Amino acid sequence: MRWPFRNWKLEFRIRNAAVDAIVGHARDAAPAECCGLLLGRAEEIVEAVRTRNIAEQQATRFLIDPRDHIDGRRDARRRGLDVVGFYHSHPRSPAEPSDTDRAEASYADHLYLIVSLASDPPVVSAFALEDGNFRVRPLVTVR
Ligand SMILES: [Zn+2]
Repeated sequence: MRWPFRNWKLEFRIRNAAVDAIVGHARDAAPAECCGLLLGRAEEIVEAVRTRNIAEQQATRFLIDPRDHIDGRRDARRRGLDVVGFYHSHPRSPAEPSDTDRAEASYADHLYLIVSLASDPPVVSAFALEDGNFRVRPLVTVR
């Protein structure tokens, strides 16, 4: 198994427009959780793509529609981007992984971004899976 995140710089970048798109999606979906794909290259998140949340209890869970996931990957590749991670929202709780998030995370080489609407302005945090645990990864917004 490879651990590309360990080779990354401490901080990684996310475009302002992607943050705005994620927060906008979270607000549109509330009180349900929203979810989507993070597209980019290496250590930069360029774009956020909405996917459907097909979880049954959407107020506290998310499950990315597998068809949206596959389509998103194909579309990203066609444009020279990769799916570098996933985002979802916590409408009422902090931007920290829940027990369910921890239990269901399975992509070691992907970034997990959480946006919380529990505070204003919303808080965005990023985590990487390492040895089965989420570790915080600093995010820097860029234009
Ligand atoms: Zn969560």
